[in-house]
Order: sequence, then structure tokens, then C-alpha cells
Amino acid sequence: MVKETKFYDILGVKPNVTNDELKRAYKKLALKYHPDKNPNEGEKFKLIAAAYETLSDPEKRKIYDRGGEQALKEGGGGGGGFHNPFDIFEMFFGGGGGGGRRRANRGRDKAHPVSVSLEELYNGSVRKMALRKRVICQACEGKGGKNVSVCSSCKGQGVVIRVVQIAPGMVQQSQSICDDCSGQGENCAPGDRCKVCDGQKTIQERKILEVHIDKGMEQGQKIPFVGEGDQEPGMEPGDVIFVVDEKEHETFAREGLDLSMKMEISLTEALCGFQRPIKTLDNRMLVITQMPGDVIKHGDIKCIMNEGMPTYKNPFEKGRLIVQFAVKFPQRVDPAIACQLENLLPKREEVMITEDAEEVFMEDFDLENERRRRRYEEEGRREDGERHYMGGEGHGQGVSCQTS
Ligand SMILES: [Zn+2]
Ligand SMILES: [Zn+2]
Repeated sequence: MVKETKFYDILGVKPNVTNDELKRAYKKLALKYHPDKNPNEGEKFKLIAAAYETLSDPEKRKIYDRGGEQALKEGGGGGGGFHNPFDIFEMFFGGGGGGGRRRANRGRDKAHPVSVSLEELYNGSVRKMALRKRVICQACEGKGGKNVSVCSSCKGQGVVIRVVQIAPGMVQQSQSICDDCSGQGENCAPGDRCKVCDGQKTIQERKILEVHIDKGMEQGQKIPFVGEGDQEPGMEPGDVIFVVDEKEHETFAREGLDLSMKMEISLTEALCGFQRPIKTLDNRMLVITQMPGDVIKHGDIKCIMNEGMPTYKNPFEKGRLIVQFAVKFPQRVDPAIACQLENLLPKREEVMITEDAEEVFMEDFDLENERRRRRYEEEGRREDGERHYMGGEGHGQGVSCQTS
């Protein structure tokens, strides 16, 4: 029994969730709430990352399960702080799969979700994405100005070591940022500073990238642009990675290569045959025909070969279109009509009703509602502890059988 479920709730999972399920839940929500797509959901994005970071680490999860968020804060181990939520995101969607491609002289990768419709994933498309990035200033070639010299105070290190005597014979060393160059390691007279970049060496630039959405791409698939990350002097720029985020479709749901849809038909259609059009993702019209004589039952599932999603890199190979039927029964039937129908429908089977059978009344029963109520009760009982069972009046046991 876990102390609190907040982090589980944030990710929409149960406390017995497996690591794989956690990953899936995180990926889905992080794409959905990434500030690129939802600029107002920054807090939520952060929470999702914090919840994932905690629950994916067996040690932290144990602490959290036992003592909740408070225990994490008190438990230390890095002061209870969380990583930058974008670091977590990039760990999933950044550089070439593992996210471990970060080298000392290489800038960080940046991942951005790109919202893509199912139509685009079926037909392929090219999306123009605007990107803000830092590039080396051309005016000063990344030097920051004229006559830039190495800072003499820190010898270009940007930091200085101070030795402080705290007691006779005892000294303490401390490292701090060099005041003379503000940690830059070099100096430039204000008049010599590059006017274009204000001595920053890089400038902000807007760049348009053409993102090719190929036929058959999937949710979470990465589209990398190598070396399009922020530039910095003396550093290899990181990559920009777009991550496919599939939008929900009003008709079709995707399961791998298959597409599935629900189709509601009337009782008349179910019994007497029908024709129905289906508009495909590339705007063709299909028509399905059920001949009179064949019956479709409620919940029946049929499939149409080669009308599913195209295979990535092999788009002529397609999945199936799966149609699940729901038969809409009439609310009521006029008793006079019922009589006529009776004559047309297959003869009913005789049933035996004995004289001593008791007549009872049927009420509507909502299975979902019932399950919810039972779950609620169970939770309440668990919170009350065992006492409830022991001191009770013997609910649930000794229900007397009414034998005659
Ligand atoms: Zn410049
Ligand atoms: Zn310095």
C-alpha cells in the first residue's frame, strides 16, 4: 500500500505499474504537454517529468511509496531536487535513441514535438517548422570583438582559487568565478566589443526547417536534423530532433499497421443487408456491401485487407482496416408491429414454466456504475483497516439459503 498516489495519478497509472508502462505513459503525456505545443502547460510538463523521474528510479520510488513527497524532500540524495524537465524529455527523444551521445565539447540536443494528423502519416507531408537558435556571429567570427585577450587574473580559466586563512596555520581553498572577466576567461575593451552580437559571440537566428513526414511514420518516431542545435565557439553543435505526435482522428484509431473504426448500423440493416461508404485517409471512397441474407450481429468485427496504414519505408505494403459493428436496436416496438414481426422472424423456442415459478420484476442494471460503487466501497474499507471486518455484524457471511 503506497502512502500517496499523486505521482502515479499525474502519469495516469496505478501504483503497481511496470517500468515499461511508466515509460509509455511518460512519452505520451510529455509529448502532449510539451511547451512547444502547450505554452500554458509548463507546470504540468514539469510535474510529469518529476513524477517520471521519481517513479522510474527504484530507490526513489521506494522512498516515495513509503513516505510520499515529503519523504523525498527529507531523504536528501541530491537535496530532493529534480532534473530540468527538458533533460528528461531529451533523454527520451534526444540524440539517436539512447540519449547518451553527449560529449564534453558538443552542445545539447533539442527535441520538439510536431503534431501530425493521421492523414499526413498516411499520405506523407512536408512541414515547415520555425526554429530559434543561436549561431556564431559572422561579424566577429565568434570572437566577440577586436583585440580580445586572455584574462590575466584567471589565465583564461574563468575561475580563480582563493586561499583564505581561517585560523593560524589553517587555510581554506575556495573556487569562485573570476570578477575581472565575469567568468569568460577573456577580456575586451568596451569600445572593441562587436556591435552585432554585443560581445556575446553568437546571435539569435530564426531558421525554417523542412520536416519530412514519411508515409507510415509512428507516434514517437524521431526525425533528426544533425548539427542544427545552438552554435557556440569551439563546440560541435547538438542535433535538433522532431518527434512525431499523432493527433487523434475522428473516425480511425491506429494500432500499428491496422486502422480500426466503429460503425453503427440499424437493426434493419443488420438483418436485411446494407451498403455503406467509407472515406479513406487519402480521400478515396470505399463502399462495403452486406448482401441480404447475411446477418451482422452486434459487436461483429470485419476487416478489409490493404486499407490500413502504409508500412514505413515500404508504403505499398499496407495493414488492414478493421470495422467493428454496433447494431442500434429500436427503443420500443409497437405491440402490433411486434406481432407482425413475430410471423416473419424464425419461430421461437417453446419454454416450460412450471406452476410454482415465482414471477419477479426486472430492473435496469448498469454494470459500469456497479463496478465503480464496489471499488469505492473497497477503498473505504481498506482505509478503515481490518476493524471493520472483525467487529461487523457478519455482513456477507451466513446468508441463509432459502431451501424449501
Ligand atoms: Zn559579433
Ligand atoms: Zn578572468
